[in-house]
Formats: sequence, structure tokens, C-alpha cells
Amino acid sequence: MRKTALFALLLAAAVMLTPVGRGEASVVKSVYGPTIYTWSDALAGAGDITPDTAVVRLPDGSLTTVPAGTWTPDGDAEAWSPGLAGRLDALLGALVGAGLDPETLRGLEVYALPAYTLALLGQERDPESPRVVAGVYREGAVVLAGLWINAADQTFLHELGHHLADRVLGTAGYWWPGGTGEKAALRREYLALRGYPQDRPLNGVSQAALPWGERAGEWFAEDFAYWAAWRVTGIRPDADSYLASPGPPDERVLAWFDRVFIGCQGNTSTQH
Ligand SMILES: [Zn+2]
Repeated sequence: MRKTALFALLLAAAVMLTPVGRGEASVVKSVYGPTIYTWSDALAGAGDITPDTAVVRLPDGSLTTVPAGTWTPDGDAEAWSPGLAGRLDALLGALVGAGLDPETLRGLEVYALPAYTLALLGQERDPESPRVVAGVYREGAVVLAGLWINAADQTFLHELGHHLADRVLGTAGYWWPGGTGEKAALRREYLALRGYPQDRPLNGVSQAALPWGERAGEWFAEDFAYWAAWRVTGIRPDADSYLASPGPPDERVLAWFDRVFIGCQGNTSTQH
């Protein structure tokens, strides 16, 4: 009894002595394939990406966002967005549970950087496109502003959409032209289904030169994010959250995503 009480006291003391802002970075090897790096453990994946808006702790102890070129310390990042790696892992699990082939996720790396928004250095393909971003996909790696409000859902799913387009439709480098084979057939199907303007060149350089919302790859990534959120939650996302120019996908488009990504045919109102 006495010993237990002493142990409890020591435990309480240990908890109280744990400094605020202590490191909580982590690397999670998802059983669904990807490796997820958060906070300072993600910095190795930042490359030329820098913080644009940071989360900082005010003297009263509260957290707020400020334009700053500094990464947010691990403890503050974890306090702002607790358990992000686990939530991203759970979302992957939900997608696999819905029928997504984990083979399409194998080898993917996810870097959730400790910033609220990110700045892309240099001219990223299109000088017109905003250089401040919440996420970016670079061959084999999703890079997120981990403290962004939608990092764990909409933004992650959008960037995952780019990854799956590359894997399943062969669109690496914004490459959408026709050709032969299964991947080319899927690209053609998607563009026709979405009524993508036929006079727009589909090679990577031309696509990247278009405004963000006019690029086939961004239509696809937004469609994927919409479809995936619906498949995981059972609820259609808010139409206002859809950012590319064609507007949210209709039943036919959703049915196409069902067929291509979870092998379902037919009625899209059915839960799979
Ligand atoms: Zn995108």
C-alpha cells in the first residue's frame, strides 16, 4: 500500500517534471506500406522547402500562427496537432479497409513538416502558381505542412491522389498524353469522363504551364481527395472545399474511381 502510494507520487512528480515543449517527433512505419515522418524527423525530406507560416507559443502559453521562416519546435507542433502520424496512418488504414490495394502505397514516404504553410523556393514550374502551399507531391513523397488545418485529411488525400495517379495511371511529371497500354487507357478514360478540353496539350511541360486549376493532374488529385473522403467517412465533402475548375465529381466520376481503385462496379450509393 505504502509502496504503491510512493510509486504514484513519484509518477506524478515525473509527469510534472516533463518539460513543456519536449520533443515528440516520430517516424511511423505504416503496416499499409508508407513511412510517415513528423516534425523534426520530417526535416530530412524538406529539401528546398522552407516554412512560410509557423506556429509559436505566446508568453501566456497559448499557440498561434505567425509568418516566420522558422520550423515549429516538436513540442509545440505536437500540442497544435496531436498524434498526426497516427491519424495519417489510420486514414491509410481506412482507405485500405475500403478496398484500396496497399500495393499502390508501398514505398511512399510522407513528410509532415513542422509548419503551418510552406514556401517553395525558386520558380516551381509555373511562375503564376502560388509559392505558398499546404502540401506538395514529389515523386514518391508527400510533403505536408503538418500544422495546416486540413493536413490530416483534405491536403493529405489530394497529395496521395497525385501519388496514385503516378502509380496507377502513369502520370509522373504531369504527363497525361495517350499511348498504349492499361495506364494510357485509364488516362484517356478519365479525361473523357471529365470532359477535359481536347485542345489542351497533355505533355508535362505544357500541363505545368497552365494555371493550377486547369491542369489534368490537379483535377484528378481533387477528384481523388473528394472520392476518398466520401469513401472513408460516408459523407460527401463540402462542394466549397473542391478547388479545381471542373467542380466536384458527379456519380459517373465517383463510380469510375470505385472501379479503378477499389474494384467496385455499379451503384455508388452502396457502402463498400
Ligand atoms: Zn496538387
